[in-house]
Amino acid sequence: MREHDRLFIGGQWTIPAGTGTIDVVSPHTEEVVGRVPDGTPADMDAAVAAARAAFDHGPWPRMTPAERAEVLGRLSAIYAERQQAMADLVTEQMGSPILFSIFGQAALPQMVLQYYADLAATFTWDDERPGMLGPVTVTREPVGVVAAIYPWNVPQFTLMLKLAPALIAGCTVVAKPSPEAPLDAYLLAEWIQEAGLPPGVVNFVPAGRETGAYLVEHPGVDKVAFTGSTAAGREIGAACGRLLRPATLELGGKSAAIICQDADLDVTIEGLKMASLMNNGQACAAQTRILAPRSRYDEVADALAAMVSGLTVGDPADYGTEIGPMAARRQQERVENYIRIGQDEGAKLLTGGLTRPHDQGWYVAPTVFADVSNSMRIAREEIFGPVLVLIPYNDEDDAITIANDSDYGLGGSVWTGDVDHGVDLARRVRTGSCGVNLYVLDPNTPFGGYKNSGLGRELGPEGLNPYLEYKAIPRPTPA
Ligand code: NAD
Repeated sequence: MREHDRLFIGGQWTIPAGTGTIDVVSPHTEEVVGRVPDGTPADMDAAVAAARAAFDHGPWPRMTPAERAEVLGRLSAIYAERQQAMADLVTEQMGSPILFSIFGQAALPQMVLQYYADLAATFTWDDERPGMLGPVTVTREPVGVVAAIYPWNVPQFTLMLKLAPALIAGCTVVAKPSPEAPLDAYLLAEWIQEAGLPPGVVNFVPAGRETGAYLVEHPGVDKVAFTGSTAAGREIGAACGRLLRPATLELGGKSAAIICQDADLDVTIEGLKMASLMNNGQACAAQTRILAPRSRYDEVADALAAMVSGLTVGDPADYGTEIGPMAARRQQERVENYIRIGQDEGAKLLTGGLTRPHDQGWYVAPTVFADVSNSMRIAREEIFGPVLVLIPYNDEDDAITIANDSDYGLGGSVWTGDVDHGVDLARRVRTGSCGVNLYVLDPNTPFGGYKNSGLGRELGPEGLNPYLEYKAIPRPTPA
């Protein structure tokens, strides 16, 4: 049992303003495994004040990028050394299979941190340009105090997409973990202290939606960075629009995997294990619409059903597990509700369904529906669980039309024997990323969504821009 009765504010373990607590429940055992304070608006006031003071008067924004990179390098080294502890903790609190956690919940966040620490050396922080009346210095300045709000599915990754660029830019941060997965923030806060970040540069206040909404509108905040549902993203975007406060929004998805006529089916099906079902299907970029040519539909259906029905479902801490429990009971109910909707809509259940694989824990059976039309709710709405829909297409133009007939535009993939042709097809898919014969997020390439999947980009040099203000300093040509 991990009990925390303090909040990390201003570099100190601070007594919270309220008495409310959040219980963290293991999705596998359904037992309470941790407890943290439930942050209140008064705690947000204290955290924003600390971040404000660190930004307005502290050393962090005044250090050079190279000096900040050195501190972040220390944090990255601590992270790299102890990432197994982070992976174990995230698996315990939200049920991610340990093999996925080691990569997605620990190694990848550390790589993102190291990427931005390294980027400081090559990024253009200042440049000189010829102007109409003389030279102009164009400089990049940190945007200020950042509110970082993130979800439970990949908490360290979605946090680090914001924290690492914000910190290298010279911003200070108030981070709000979700109530389902607040424990990893405590481990990171210890490492932040150990690495010697100045007080107030990073602050954590776990809390629910209302306190999150309070943070978004706080007058001391200069920028909001959010990952979560499209519904919450709309509310946050609306609030930021009213306040003219810049916001980056990484939202939901319903991505398509296009299986081409010439695809190697063994490679494809093995690739979809990760691309479609990573993190128990609780991934925004999961490719849950599988598009197969009519000529190969039955073959694809058989192979997909065989793969999904053969997945090992169980204790996420077990190294043999491929699918663990859903992170929350309400998530289990939501996924099961979509399975019911699929059956009511007349889709054909190939494997899975409503029989739970285990009585204890928030498990759902990995499920595949065939004979799905792209107009069905199970093809249009984000389920956020291990439920795949198989949609037939006539020719490649039809496949592209179906892939793009979505309110979302986050990820996707093309599976083909001809990689160049795959790249041509990927260019026609209206999403922020589309892999060919694989799907992966690289720290040095941008990630984000078209349409209802969000606004702005994270990762890569593009992911640093939202944390910078650009300033032009023109002056007369020297005599
Ligand atoms: P959610 O939107 O309910 O919550 C996300 C976070 O925002 C939580 O910390 C929550 O407390 C907070 N929050 C919710 N409403 C808020 C509001 N009005 N103001 C301020 N804060 C608010 O999402 P969830 O159910 O926790 O996470 C799942 C969703 O996240 C899925 O839709 C998934 O696609 C999305 N997601 C997107 C990405 C991406 O990069 N595009 C990555 C991971 C998850």
